[in-house]
Amino acid sequence: MEKIVSLCRRRGFIFPSSEIYGGLSSCWDYGPLGVELKQNIKQAWWRAVVQERDDMVGLDTSILMHPQVWEASGHIKGFSDPLVECKSCHLRWRSDELEGDRCPSCDGELTEPRMFNLMFKTFMGPVEEATSVVYLRPETAQGIFVNFDNVLNTTRKRLPFGIAQIGKAFRNEITTGNFIFRTREFEQMEIEFFVKPETDKKWLDYWIEQRLNFYVNLGIKRENLRLRQHGAEELAHYARECYDINYLFPMGWAELEGIANRGDFDLVQHASSSGKSLTYFDEETKQQIVPYIIEPSAGVDRSFLAFLCDAYDEQPDNDETRVLLHLHPDLAPVKVAVLPLSRRENLVAFAKELYADLRQCWMVQYDDAQSIGRRYRRQDEIGTPFCVTIDFQSLEDNQVTIRDRDSMNQIRVPIAELRNTLQAKLEGEDLFVLPPGGMIWKEG
Ligand code: ATP
Repeated sequence: MEKIVSLCRRRGFIFPSSEIYGGLSSCWDYGPLGVELKQNIKQAWWRAVVQERDDMVGLDTSILMHPQVWEASGHIKGFSDPLVECKSCHLRWRSDELEGDRCPSCDGELTEPRMFNLMFKTFMGPVEEATSVVYLRPETAQGIFVNFDNVLNTTRKRLPFGIAQIGKAFRNEITTGNFIFRTREFEQMEIEFFVKPETDKKWLDYWIEQRLNFYVNLGIKRENLRLRQHGAEELAHYARECYDINYLFPMGWAELEGIANRGDFDLVQHASSSGKSLTYFDEETKQQIVPYIIEPSAGVDRSFLAFLCDAYDEQPDNDETRVLLHLHPDLAPVKVAVLPLSRRENLVAFAKELYADLRQCWMVQYDDAQSIGRRYRRQDEIGTPFCVTIDFQSLEDNQVTIRDRDSMNQIRVPIAELRNTLQAKLEGEDLFVLPPGGMIWKEG
């Protein structure tokens, strides 16, 4: 984990929040490369669960919601963790996460557990009084449930169908840590998939498989993923059945995504609390029914950490170490780097023109500082799949080399073929499949 944190800091993936003031506990800022990787994760998810499907639509609901939402959802009463405090050093812990009954820091005696509500409270409007209390949402899901009828009426979707949302959530966690694994402000990617009640098991299995495949298709090693079923005693108040997709993080196996069968809990609760009907007319049986909900709920930040950990690699490189991120091309923050072999004027002009052209298609970096070897290493370390090198011969034959991050193999292609070739390689075509006029330049 230290290596990942150090790489993130060094290369501008993630900085501590408000760092010049000493940072703010468990809050992080995504830097220039981090914001790209995060964006790419969200885009890949949106593409897989909304764009490529005809049974899903998207939504973007507000963070502040009517306080009654949280009464009905059970969060005001039940969204709590058991908190204990050390009587000697006064550190606070989640008692369900402790192994013994003493303080893990100083072995002091602990207080009796008391339930601590994890929702952040604030006030709406200028007067700080009980009637103006609102909460920062602790999950994005409720925004979907309360819009069930709106979506049904405006999209004419029939069961089974789903609603997807990406957005910030806030939890006043008792213990945070492990970098961006558990924070108080984080982002979720949630699906609420509405199904006929008798089909819930089938759809739960279906989504477990879909969601596992999502991570594997984006490069996470299957052996680093595990499915864990919740025991009856740990099921959340709304869940009939729940599975975690766990990932082997540096600190051990931990939850990456939860997939729950929420039954009809949420729609029934909101219907009774709001007095509005939240049912669905089943054409087959000619009856109003309350759909069941299957919920795959993933964390953007945890996915970010998992993708980084899984991609991180160190290889011997003469006397040094080559650090590289084997990020899937769809996730890589920078897709292509343009590297002129020297800073000679004519070469730079040529390279800059190419750089401007490729920027129309992808995030591209230009780098002309230090030796070509060092520049390759810098790109390897941030996971750039391809480097395009311009040398003096390029000025004469209008050809450039493309170097592949993982194999270090190189091909040489005519500039006229460059965009199409890079596009094909980013989509997974073998490097040695050559465009017209192309050739193998160097085997790494
Ligand atoms: P944990 O027990 O690890 O705190 P949880 O079971 O409370 O997580 P869920 O309520 O199932 O988490 O939330 C769904 C997903 O949202 C999680 O799988 C995780 O990826 C993400 N998530 C939840 N809490 C946090 C947090 N505090 N920081 C970062 N991500 C979180």
